Amino acid sequence: MLLEHEEDHLSAEDVYLLVKEKSPEIGLATVYRTLELLSELKIVDKINFGDGVSRYDLRQEGAAHFHHHLVCIECGAVDEIQEDLLEDVENIVERDWKFKIKDHRLTFHGICSRCQKDSDDTEE
Ligand SMILES: [Zn+2]
Ligand SMILES: [Zn+2]
Repeated sequence: MLLEHEEDHLSAEDVYLLVKEKSPEIGLATVYRTLELLSELKIVDKINFGDGVSRYDLRQEGAAHFHHHLVCIECGAVDEIQEDLLEDVENIVERDWKFKIKDHRLTFHGICSRCQKDSDDTEE
């Protein structure tokens, strides 16, 4: 279900609506339970972009870290950075805080390139 879907960052309700098309007998509670299980198994990652809605993100196969997110505050688009930008930061934290890092979350909030273009157009 989630795995077949191209779209990432789906909420449980989004997944439920997709599942319902094929399997109308499946309830929202089942979808929630399944998503919780998948996130415990680290097959999906549970993320929150600050809008109070938990979303589920498919973990890239073999990825050592969770990809970074760019969240546009104008249009709500979520772009992904697969490259790990935090290696240096992790080294410092591990060295100075003796903290063994297993993973991290990095989300940038700002205005995406598409929205920046839009506002340029209206100013002219
Ligand atoms: Zn993502
Ligand atoms: Zn935008």
